Amino acid sequence: MAALTGAWPVSRLSRCLRRGLHCTGNLYHRRCVRVRFAPSPTGMLHLGGLRTALYNYLFAKSKPGGKFLLRIEDTDQTRLVPNAIEKLEDMLSWAGISPDEGPSQGGSYGPYKQSERIELYQESIKVLVQNESAYHCFCTPRRLELVRKEAARRGETPRYDNRCRQWSSSEVKEKLARNTPYVIRLKLEATAEPWDDLLKGRTSHNIADAEGDPVLIKSDRFPTYHFANVVDDHHMGITHVLRGDEWQTSTPKHLLLYKSFGWDPPRYAHLPLILNKDGTKLSKRGDDVQVEHFKNEGYYPEALLNYVTKIGGGFSSDGTTGFSLEEMIQQFSLERLRRNSGRLDPEYLDEANRIHLGAKLGRGCSRQQVIEDVRTLVLAGHSQSLGEGTLREQILSSEYIGNILDCAFEEGRIMKPKDLLKSDWRFLWSAPRRETVQDLKTASIDVAHLLEGCCQRLSVITGFDADQLQTELQELVRGEGYSARPVMHSLRQALSGLKEGPRVVDMMLALGRDHTIQRLKHTLHILTHS
Ligand code: GLU
Repeated sequence: MAALTGAWPVSRLSRCLRRGLHCTGNLYHRRCVRVRFAPSPTGMLHLGGLRTALYNYLFAKSKPGGKFLLRIEDTDQTRLVPNAIEKLEDMLSWAGISPDEGPSQGGSYGPYKQSERIELYQESIKVLVQNESAYHCFCTPRRLELVRKEAARRGETPRYDNRCRQWSSSEVKEKLARNTPYVIRLKLEATAEPWDDLLKGRTSHNIADAEGDPVLIKSDRFPTYHFANVVDDHHMGITHVLRGDEWQTSTPKHLLLYKSFGWDPPRYAHLPLILNKDGTKLSKRGDDVQVEHFKNEGYYPEALLNYVTKIGGGFSSDGTTGFSLEEMIQQFSLERLRRNSGRLDPEYLDEANRIHLGAKLGRGCSRQQVIEDVRTLVLAGHSQSLGEGTLREQILSSEYIGNILDCAFEEGRIMKPKDLLKSDWRFLWSAPRRETVQDLKTASIDVAHLLEGCCQRLSVITGFDADQLQTELQELVRGEGYSARPVMHSLRQALSGLKEGPRVVDMMLALGRDHTIQRLKHTLHILTHS
């Protein structure tokens, strides 16, 4: 209960209460679009959360003066995951979705963590108890369990029977005076009012048919999701709520809360489900739906955003492949969001990433950044195998890395820089070492002579493409009078230290002319100086 004491300066609290509880129109708030992403810090940011944050962000940024808020809904203290808030913020920032207001940014409607707003909920609930929209419930957990069991026995949906609605105010006072434990519940109305969902159109759910009066304040005095969510949306001046479909059945409760307070509700848009490729429901826990997983795999944030909007729509064209976040903002329209659920298409993600990679490679400063990223990956994963001296320097040079990137990209072999570190490509980052080439000295052919001849040919040929290299190698084989097999084996090993691997021509193309010659000379030096 530490949060109950002093988290809110009294002046701010009373300003907020004046602004919200006693004024219904709240015109100042309503002028500009204000939307929020309101995750509970119970795990990592997953694709569903990213989708919700992105659409709220796009909606805000596509409107003049629109603001996007991050609010942490951490009132369920039992489900908190350590560091989840920091990780959520990191992932949003990686994706480029920066809140205008939030726990780290601050803002004039804060605090932005619900656990720091407990006094506001305490004050707010008094209003609902006073106007009899809410009531104290003294039922014990044991009684609730019996009610549930009884309903199950009769084959009915287990739900609270609203028994404590009956207590008069003096009976309530008396129970409170005796310190009887209690929760506070909202009186559901027999018929829930429909609302005009911005995506689904006229929508209604008669929740009173399916459930008992919901709890607003729990026995630990913390608010439930429903209560804190509505109180905060109001006090933070939220104009539109864009959230996942799974919250749709909560909306009638939220609307009833607005009505009970006498506040204007925001407009709602419930975003359809994201499904796995096979049409099953997306799990929130699996590794492969977490944003961090895609980041670690080396996908670009823009590609991940394209992946998400491919399912959700919001644009005139089908998908946003290759769009930057800025372009998405310019072209986004809420009316174009899809109304039906959609499936993930991992191949599309690779393709989107390839397109962003190509665009980056074509632009000066971002090209340099891609090269830098590859260098970092190589140093992290292959530092030991890079060799020493000039060869190492050359492998780490921008020219060498840039050439490899261009070559691999043009051949459609990579979707993301990290693919260059896959096993097929490992030779690019491993200079031949004494231990890996010295047995060439005892090969059945004169390898030193072969390498000299090869360097000679490569340094005078005019072009350096697959056809030309093929021809040169064939002539080399013929000129030496050996059969092709030992020649190719030796060349592969001399170039990479590998006894097996890609075709020699492919290796040479990826290494580039200068570096190919450099490697052959390096191996020649080892063979002739040991
Ligand atoms: N805390 C809820 C969540 O985790 C927020 C739902 C809403 O946007 O109202 O998604």
